[in-house]
Amino acid sequence: MSDPILSAEGLTRIFRVRHKERMQDLHAVAGVDLALHAGQTLGIVGESGCGKTTLNRMLLMLDQPSAGTVRFRGRPCNTLDAAGKRAFRRAVQPVFQNPFSSLDPRMRVGRIIAEPLSTIPGLSRAEIDSRVAEVLEAVGLRATDARRFPNEFSGGQRQRIAIARAIASRPEVLMLDEPVSSQDISIRAQILNILKDLQEENGLACVFISHDLATVRFMADEVIVMYLGRPVERGTAEAICTRPAHPYTKALLAAALPPDPDAAPPELPPQGELPSPLDPPQGCPYHTRCPLRMEICASHRPAMLAASHGGVAACHLLEPEAAHVA
Ligand code: SF4
Repeated sequence: MSDPILSAEGLTRIFRVRHKERMQDLHAVAGVDLALHAGQTLGIVGESGCGKTTLNRMLLMLDQPSAGTVRFRGRPCNTLDAAGKRAFRRAVQPVFQNPFSSLDPRMRVGRIIAEPLSTIPGLSRAEIDSRVAEVLEAVGLRATDARRFPNEFSGGQRQRIAIARAIASRPEVLMLDEPVSSQDISIRAQILNILKDLQEENGLACVFISHDLATVRFMADEVIVMYLGRPVERGTAEAICTRPAHPYTKALLAAALPPDPDAAPPELPPQGELPSPLDPPQGCPYHTRCPLRMEICASHRPAMLAASHGGVAACHLLEPEAAHVA
């Protein structure tokens, strides 16, 4: 496989926050490794508060890691010079959840979409207009929509505009943070299909972040499941969604729309609320909600171990001797 376009090692983000009248560390993301190759979609899934958005911001160079490294084409992002940062901004484009806040209401759509093109030297006005028209049509809108303002469009159309803007500079990577979760269910399918078509036509790599494992399964090749800032399972999308090894992944599957109506019901319903990341449980961070917890789970954090589906998971159930350890 080719070298990754975007990768991360040991990525960690700690926020210093005031809690109960004293300052405390909040470990939003801890020890995430990932590698994204050309044409690949990496899904990152977990509940709200699991660290997905903080991870996305670090991968986009919008936030500095407390520890660990993000690499763009093998080079640490914190060593990129001005030209390297411009190349990064052109090659790695975000699409955020809410197209109402991500599009400036005072700017015409054409100007919004043309903005990333300003980083490409030597483009004429006519070439910019032509590219704006091309990407508007690629997302199912009309070239003449460039003259209108964002508030003249529905939520689904605005997200298409946000996608058009993201692909305008012919990026190599799209960072999609819950791109359909604010949309109606019928619009979601349209946008996911547009994204999938664009990815296949342009060989784009994508990071697809969502709380919904069914959506991630549709989009992703590989999946990382996160819980309280840490990866708890990773593997191919097919393996994670058909043979999950971690009880949390099974709970996420139970919460997702079943991809196959004839499939057996998920075996583990989700339990309870997500603990505060300011006061994470000792041992396995999932033990306070896990229906399969054992004595060891409250005191020992499980390591990432090989799972039968070919990926890895952090659960003592993967250690045959764990049930006997006090
Ligand atoms: Fe559940 Fe224990 Fe596995 Fe954690 S380590 S997921 S508590 S069985």
